[in-house]
Amino acid sequence: MDLGIAGKKALVCAASKGLGRGCAFSLAREGVDVTILARTPGPLEATAEEIRKETGVTVNTVACDISTEEGRNMALAACPEPDILVNNAGGPPPGDFRDWDRDDWIKALDANMLTPIFLIKATVDGMIERKFGRVVNITSAAVKAPIEILGLSNGARAGLTGFIAGLSRKTVRHNVTINNLLPGPFDTDRLHSNMKVKADQAGISVEEMFAKRAAENPAGRFGTAHEFGEMCAFICSDQAGFMTGQNFLMDGGSYPGTL
Ligand code: NAP
Repeated sequence: MDLGIAGKKALVCAASKGLGRGCAFSLAREGVDVTILARTPGPLEATAEEIRKETGVTVNTVACDISTEEGRNMALAACPEPDILVNNAGGPPPGDFRDWDRDDWIKALDANMLTPIFLIKATVDGMIERKFGRVVNITSAAVKAPIEILGLSNGARAGLTGFIAGLSRKTVRHNVTINNLLPGPFDTDRLHSNMKVKADQAGISVEEMFAKRAAENPAGRFGTAHEFGEMCAFICSDQAGFMTGQNFLMDGGSYPGTL
């Protein structure tokens, strides 16, 4: 299927690795020029070069921390008028809420709630004027079913989800959609670090925990960044203009509800 977005411009946040990288690749394969960012220049440049080689699109890079105002300004200077915005940042650390102070909560809110909101604020009116815009927020399956050790994530992402539910109904009239993509377990660096916490708690090795959790998923495995990216590209497609304010769960069927 031709997604009808060749020649569009995308700003893909936190995209040197994992799910953001998968989204950048899938958009680039559709002919979208991408600006990708991450804090560490080495892996960022390596990913950019791989995307250029495989797809031939223009790839810009910005080494910045997107959870800071300075980082957001750098990203927006490199890609001031994106047609597509993929909001993403590292997830907050796991732990017990008794150990988190105000600074821990502010960091989580900055990265996983306020940064997406500020980036939308900076770009959505341009999208509305141009009569095309697609915003995808990478959130988490924790929005539907909280994950015990990820209280900071459960809280911050729920706040973003509530805000998006309102705004997304205001923009769709102008062919600007805003949706959330909720990853369950995907095989990325982030998953591996969370597995270590769970493995230590259970007193088994990371490899044993990894195999156990993969087997427990109804799909018998974890998801791949490629699968995630392809879903993101479809949500950004020309054909997807009638879907907004939705929370698309990708979890191999783990969530047990009928709806
Ligand atoms: P990952 O493999 O660890 O990749 C994270 C990417 O984000 C890297 O490119 C990293 O590069 C970049 N990054 C992190 N913090 C950043 C910041 N402040 N500014 C700019 N770039 C930043 O993680 P992932 O698995 O793709 O996860 C992506 C998001 O999905 C996270 O919020 C995670 O909590 C959420 N999620 C993931 C899963 C899963 O199973 N993988 C499940 C649910 C939710 P640098 O470190 O160089 O900045």
